[in-house]
Amino acid sequence: MNERCAFAIGAHPDDVEIYCLGLLLRLQDAGWTIGWAVATDGQAGLPSGARADLRRDEAMAAGRTVGVKPMLLGLMDGGLIGTPDDARAVRAAIADFKPAVLITHSPDDYHPDHRTLSRLVAEAAPPETVVLFAEAMLGGGAQPERLVDITAQYQRKRAALAAHASQSAPDFVPAFETWSRFRALHCGVKGARHAEGFFFRSSAASRQNLAVLENALSGQRV
Ligand SMILES: [Zn+2]
Repeated sequence: MNERCAFAIGAHPDDVEIYCLGLLLRLQDAGWTIGWAVATDGQAGLPSGARADLRRDEAMAAGRTVGVKPMLLGLMDGGLIGTPDDARAVRAAIADFKPAVLITHSPDDYHPDHRTLSRLVAEAAPPETVVLFAEAMLGGGAQPERLVDITAQYQRKRAALAAHASQSAPDFVPAFETWSRFRALHCGVKGARHAEGFFFRSSAASRQNLAVLENALSGQRV
């Protein structure tokens, strides 16, 4: 178990950037080690005729903007159903990083790949690990239990998102910007302009790691 270490697993190549990169960067700014994995190859999100490895290159480019080399698990986009191979790949990624804090999708997410991954991560997480579930796309569900001010990290999150050029529908980044501004209105921090929302699972065994996380988040905005 690596204290002050946070690891995210997203289903598709841009998911970590969309859902939780602000939180990861906030922890990185507080001196934590951060990393993430991409579960599927993202093929389903490519326009026809696009280079097969385009999304892999975009994922690596996005990681480079914040000094992270994402782990690419290479599972099937649109086909994440929780096979023994899927579960093994997720378990291995977590075992490799041994994080105190794990972040993934909401179990109530709209996307089947996201829901499957959420379950696989929750099942693979050691009891002492705090598991955070990012709220679904543009809200779409209950009010998050924990809103994290990411104002100081937002421009870096935005730059990483922009590396996913194949996904750049005209309203891609502005939509997420509107969402994070909306969440900032709820986060209770004066002057906050961007926020991300999470639900969390913590057990008695993870209390120590939860305290370390809350301590890192309760500091002054950095
Ligand atoms: Zn996704």
